[in-house]
This record gives sequence, structure tokens and C-alpha cells, in this order.
Amino acid sequence: MDSDPPKKEERIIDSGDSPKTPRRLRGRQQTLESSVDVFAAQCDKCQKWRVISTQEEFEDIRSKISKEPFYCDRKPGVSCEDPADLNFDSTRTWVIDRPDLPKTPEGFKRTLVLRKDYSKMDVYYITPLGKKVRTPNEIAEFLKKYPQYTNFSPDDFRFTTPKIVEETIPPNVLVAKRCNSTASSSKKKIKKLPELDEKVTGTRGDS
Ligand SMILES: [Zn+2]
Repeated sequence: MDSDPPKKEERIIDSGDSPKTPRRLRGRQQTLESSVDVFAAQCDKCQKWRVISTQEEFEDIRSKISKEPFYCDRKPGVSCEDPADLNFDSTRTWVIDRPDLPKTPEGFKRTLVLRKDYSKMDVYYITPLGKKVRTPNEIAEFLKKYPQYTNFSPDDFRFTTPKIVEETIPPNVLVAKRCNSTASSSKKKIKKLPELDEKVTGTRGDS
């Protein structure tokens, strides 16, 4: 049905204004690279998933999705009649962000990194100074230390991790996980092996 899958999104952290980033710094930044390949939002009318092309737009939609549901026609030239951009199935690993998380303050970057065993996603913020911050306390300290950021509040930063959709975890990872844990209630079958392990972060109205 979906014959033309969307191009894999490349997320490059230092995609900005400094092409001459020193090699060392580049290397360091790569370890902070997001696990997220694609951002998506679910239409509240037709329930289809649409690819959101930038993290900024995704966060904008997510920040108010329970009050302002997402509809297909937010995308130019797209309506509910058009086939879905993505299907919510195990061809990709899906993680669902909590609705209404605040937009990342300007200059900062919010990064989601999936653990190798798919047990959890870790949330980091990268400050405008390139520092990786992983707890609310660290953010509060940072904001205190650098008064130029006093217009931000620690509340603008959320370390809430998205929910990993277990049915979409690649079967080989899932088997390893099951061996390590007895508590698994999912009876759903994985239909086929994912061709590529693409990670999608989705947002939708229901919490
Ligand atoms: Zn729709």
C-alpha cells in the first residue's frame, strides 16, 4: 500500500554554521548522536501517521497536541485521503513521546538515545555550550551558572523518556530481552523481520 517509503532522516547534531568544527569536537559530538531517524505525528481524524520533517516542528506539535490535535492537512498539500507516510508496525522501532512536553528552549538540543538492549531511551539536553546534561539538577545548575540563560526555567526541560513500543522491537533483541526477564505479557506476534532498524519517535493525543 505504501509503495514509496519516506527517505530516512539524517539527524546531524552539528549541522549548523560552523563547518570548521575541530575533529576532536566532532568525535565527541558523535557519541551524543540521537537514535531517532524519523519524527512522526498521528492524525486525530484518520489515525494515519505523517512524517514530520524537523525536530523543531515535531516538538511544536507535541508541545500542545492534547489541546491542538494534529491533522493531516497541517502538512502542505496533504489530506486524510492520502495514504499514510508510515505504518505503525514492526518494520521500524517506534517510541512514543509523552504528549505536551515543552519545546526545547532555543539554542539547546534534546537528544534521545536508545540503549543497546532496547530497555530504555535516555534523554539528554545539549546546552548551547556543547555540554551534555542528563538530570534536572544539572540543568538547574547550568541555568544558575550562566545568567544569560535566566529566561529559561528548569521546567522547560523534561527528562521524561518516551515509551518504547515493545511489539516493534526487532525480534532478535526481544528474544535476548525475554531470556533476561520473566515478566513479559505481550502475546502479539512479530509479523516479519525489519529490513532496517529505523527508529521513529511519534506523538499523538492520547496519553
Ligand atoms: Zn488525517
